[in-house]
Amino acid sequence: MSELKDKCGVFGVFGHQDAAYLAYLGLYALQHRGEESAGIVTSNGRKMSAYLGMGHVQDVFDGNHLERLPGDRAIGHVRYSTTGSSNLKNAQPILVDYSRGEVAIAHNGNLVNANMLRAELEAYGSIFQTTTDSEIIIHLMAKPSLRNVKEGVMDALSRVEGAYSLVLLTNDMLIAARDPQGFRPLWLGKLGNAWVVSSETCALDIMDAEPVREIEPGEVLFITSQGITSEKVAVENKKHAHCIFEHVYFSRPDSKIFGESVHLVRTKFGRQLAKEAPVAADIVIPVPDSGNSAALGYSQESGIPLETAIIRNHYVGRTFIQPTQGLRDFKVRVKFNLIREVLKDKRVVVVDDSIVRGTTSKLRVKSLRLAGAKEIHLRISCPPHRFPCAYGIDFPTKEELISNKYNAQEIRKYLDCDSVEYLSLEGMLSCVSYPKENYCTACWSGKYPVPFAAVDKFHAEKCR
Ligand code: AMP
Repeated sequence: MSELKDKCGVFGVFGHQDAAYLAYLGLYALQHRGEESAGIVTSNGRKMSAYLGMGHVQDVFDGNHLERLPGDRAIGHVRYSTTGSSNLKNAQPILVDYSRGEVAIAHNGNLVNANMLRAELEAYGSIFQTTTDSEIIIHLMAKPSLRNVKEGVMDALSRVEGAYSLVLLTNDMLIAARDPQGFRPLWLGKLGNAWVVSSETCALDIMDAEPVREIEPGEVLFITSQGITSEKVAVENKKHAHCIFEHVYFSRPDSKIFGESVHLVRTKFGRQLAKEAPVAADIVIPVPDSGNSAALGYSQESGIPLETAIIRNHYVGRTFIQPTQGLRDFKVRVKFNLIREVLKDKRVVVVDDSIVRGTTSKLRVKSLRLAGAKEIHLRISCPPHRFPCAYGIDFPTKEELISNKYNAQEIRKYLDCDSVEYLSLEGMLSCVSYPKENYCTACWSGKYPVPFAAVDKFHAEKCR
């Protein structure tokens, strides 16, 4: 069975003598997209080298590892998981040596027909090394009737459905591909004479690479020492379905995705939220870092001063704090502390990006009360989450989402706040620049832009 939990970050570079080091820097900037494992594969044009490990980028790699990754081309991956098997076997890039030579793949997204394709491939004798859906693409590429890597990639991508922002590396080629709906972001950049590919522009910025353009939905780029060529995946004209939750939460505010600045979009969400859900209050405070931009927007629109009262400890990693329920509560407390002097006797608007299970919000409200806040008004910069994601974002099951357990009044009571209001779906869509039918809103609306095959039980059960 392949697994549904691949909120990840990918990076690639071709034609730079410090390829491994650049991949390391790129992954460092993409760390927020995946904290479970990190890996880099390089090539010197003849032979590939790989190093992968569990944990944060800075824990996995040191100078020695990078020195043992020679070559002027590289791909890298950070992987995320909160549940299910997290082991080195599932870390990426996946590197294999098959009939056409070595190939490595790094994938962000989820394929919705993965289990069906995997069953078909296994029936014909394929032996899988991992339980991730990404490996399926390599097996599809290896079909003997396909004449070369290029043909293999194009054929494989015409068969997979769902979300993928991919980088692949062979000894002579860096390949970057984005699914026809464009669910996840993917950028092409230039650094001197080298080409760079990244999930987000924040990784290009730190190495002074110039963002050239977003790789188009359905586009496949083949980058070699002869230059760059572009092809389109052979599928019917599919409507774009950019994941708007990337704007709400996942992408970094200093990145540009789907044509616009994440920070500016979040600020607009905050302004719209203030119009839709005004309240008489003394201060607006963000839940850092995810609520910062929306809180600024809420403050600008409402005229209520923006304050800082929740302080985030940035040194909370995953290494020693396991995600069991009891310790998760502890993690919230280590992660955030409060400035009592700011909160005492104040009517406070607390702006956060989303409520998923409700666990962190509940604890937060409790500690804000203990710190002396007189009234607590929660404002959330997206609608209530009711449906799991099938395209790569790790949400719990439908039953665990608080908005499926309680109605609005019950949520307010459960969280013990004075009011809780969400941004409307229409309001959210009015803040982004592409036509609204070009975004995926499945986690709020239940309208899944790519249907799941009935045999892909995991998706069918999880998202029904
Ligand atoms: P909770 O309501 O306790 O499940 O936590 C919600 C908080 O977790 C939000 O404030 C987000 O900042 C963050 N969050 C939202 N979606 C995810 C996700 N898929 N994985 C990890 N954290 C998330």
